[in-house]
Amino acid sequence: MNPTLEIFSQGEEIVTGQTVDTNAAWLSQQAVQLGFTVTRHTAVGDKLDDLVGLLKEIALRADCCVCTGGLGPTSDDLTAVAVAKAFDLPLEFDAVAFAQIQQFFSNRNRVMPEPNRKQAMLPKGAQRLDNEVGTAPGFAMQHGRCWFVFLPGVPSEMRPIFLKKIQPYLDQRFSLQPSTLVSIKTFGIGESVIQQHINNIDIPAQVQLGFRASLNDVQTKLLFPAHYPNADMMALVANITGILGDSVFAVDRPGEMTGDLVYAVDQLMKAGNHTLALVETATQGLMAGLCIGSPWLLETRYERSLERLAQKLQVAITHDDLMATAKEIALAAQKISGADFVLVQLYAGDLDALQDKNKLIVLHTVLLANGQFHPASQSVAGLIKRKQNQAALLALDLLRRYLQHPPI
Ligand code: ATP
Ligand code: MG
Repeated sequence: MNPTLEIFSQGEEIVTGQTVDTNAAWLSQQAVQLGFTVTRHTAVGDKLDDLVGLLKEIALRADCCVCTGGLGPTSDDLTAVAVAKAFDLPLEFDAVAFAQIQQFFSNRNRVMPEPNRKQAMLPKGAQRLDNEVGTAPGFAMQHGRCWFVFLPGVPSEMRPIFLKKIQPYLDQRFSLQPSTLVSIKTFGIGESVIQQHINNIDIPAQVQLGFRASLNDVQTKLLFPAHYPNADMMALVANITGILGDSVFAVDRPGEMTGDLVYAVDQLMKAGNHTLALVETATQGLMAGLCIGSPWLLETRYERSLERLAQKLQVAITHDDLMATAKEIALAAQKISGADFVLVQLYAGDLDALQDKNKLIVLHTVLLANGQFHPASQSVAGLIKRKQNQAALLALDLLRRYLQHPPI
């Protein structure tokens, strides 16, 4: 059985929703990967009795607990006091912590405000966790069956302390059997269609299958238990990616984390030393915006009306064949920009259709690459921002598919 771990986030701003609890999400992911069973997330406001009560409960039921927040110098930062009260320990002055806090201020040419002295008071017997980024040190201690870790709330302080000081230590303290998570990332295929495909594959009962669908991708997740044979794991992943075909743009596995669809395009463009020109309409500059910072983007063009676009590029509009017009525009844009690839997206319908959530628009996207046209016609529906997001990603995905699977 895996050891259990709870996450406990402290702060009124978390409970009232002013700050999103990203610490809990990040810590959970770390803990699951390390081989813990994460049993609970709790958020508690700045109320001493609630904190004391929760700490006592956790000490009885969890093997490990990571708590974030409440280590600061102000009166709402109650963690050390709550720990002292819950576990009946005195708070003791830690001279090393105090020297570090003073150093933090003198490095910035500032006098340490008196309230910061409070941050050097740690529960008796606690192991100090130095904070190289901020002022508040964290601390760790065993109480009851549980090993407690208290970390600052600020994510940029909390994460390095966890990774440097806690993670290496967890392996020694607990007998951890990490499971392996593989995420197959797809675009342009719905999760129910993926499920239908996967129904044809025999997935062993000990492999946990899950899906995560967002606007930007669908991830098929496979969680393999510890000691699952590597060759079998690779074979199953290859089998599923094979069935999902071109829709797969990346596979995440331990030690090999990728990014989103735009990241995949960026990597492929850089690897091939290619350049791109964009012509967009419905997306109003979003396509270019997604490529911001990319050295391979040579030129972008957005026009509100097709007439204006055609006029500027001196292309005649073929009214009954929008794809034919898109191809002409691609040729003209290539001549002007000299880019290797040109991506053009036009849409059937007017601005009203684009803005009306009850109307769909039909996109006519074409990629011009190596003298060949690669057309795609798709429809998108919903609120304007959703339509635009999908339209931009569909166009970039057309490029991604070409780059990942170039025609022979
Ligand atoms: P400080 O010294 O800044 O007071 P602290 O350890 O006392 O540090 P908090 O006062 O609880 O931490 O939170 C400081 C800031 O860190 C918050 O304003 C918030 O921006 C961020 N923060 C705190 N808890 C979380 C959380 N669970 N998830 C994401 N961000 C958080
Ligand atoms: Mg604080």
